[in-house]
Amino acid sequence: MSDLPATVSVREVGPRDGLQNEAPVPTAAKVELVNALSTTGVRRIEAVSFVHPKAIPQMADADEVWQQITRNDEVRYSALVPNLRGAHRALGSGFKEIEVVVSASDTHNRKNINRSTEESLDDIAELVSIAHGEGARVQVIVSTAWGCPYEGDVPVERVVGVAARAIKDGADTISFGDTTGMATPGRVTALIGELRMGHPDVDVNLHFHNTRGAGLANVMAALQLGVADFDSSVGGLGGCPYAPGASGNVATEELIHMVEDMGVDTGIDLEAMIDAAATAERIVGRTLPSQVLRAGPRTRTTPA
Ligand code: ZN
Repeated sequence: MSDLPATVSVREVGPRDGLQNEAPVPTAAKVELVNALSTTGVRRIEAVSFVHPKAIPQMADADEVWQQITRNDEVRYSALVPNLRGAHRALGSGFKEIEVVVSASDTHNRKNINRSTEESLDDIAELVSIAHGEGARVQVIVSTAWGCPYEGDVPVERVVGVAARAIKDGADTISFGDTTGMATPGRVTALIGELRMGHPDVDVNLHFHNTRGAGLANVMAALQLGVADFDSSVGGLGGCPYAPGASGNVATEELIHMVEDMGVDTGIDLEAMIDAAATAERIVGRTLPSQVLRAGPRTRTTPA
């Protein structure tokens, strides 16, 4: 087997990306889910987003959730924001990790946050400067990085161009989001290769959706290129409200199951994450797509 990273850092996005795409659940249920995740060993949790409550009512209680959770000092909690206003709210609430999302596709960016990609990018330098002044780090998430549900394929050069502008304007890290599950392993390799031509040292995080069944294959392709930071969602919660047909992030317990068996350490207890997935399933009241949640760890035995 080719060299894989010794460790992978998983960012659990179920409380934000997942619950944002479900019928609204009570604040207490969100707090319960974040608390369950905080004790699994996962070291990064995307807890909430600070978006306009009219646009996404599911996240209207972001600040309450953040104030009520039992914070684990070993976990880095982050908030997703669409713009400067959201960044101010997140920083005001005390977040030290902010993710600002910019779509590589103009049409998707307009549907999502009512501005062109360029207009969103124009805010990055100021947003980074404000965040750094508060001792916070900024990740720019380039969404629709492998295609857009409105525009189809998005050229690799454009995606890398958006990332390059964000890096120039001070982003600490970059994430690429496969918003509607259009990536395949060859496209992952092509995008990471193109990024590294101009930015060999930038830290990159990847976010795959399993919409077309290629989520874990894409993770594998990225691992083989040395990428070690991935988003996933407990139980496979999540989609995107502005992307028709989008469904299911890669399930965290499926990711752990796969990479740990290849000797890659995530620091996460698989059984604890499966328990958290069962909690997520109870909270949203529907069957979640995770297959490891159904089948259990690979060494689980059935009484003969
Ligand atoms: Zn997602």
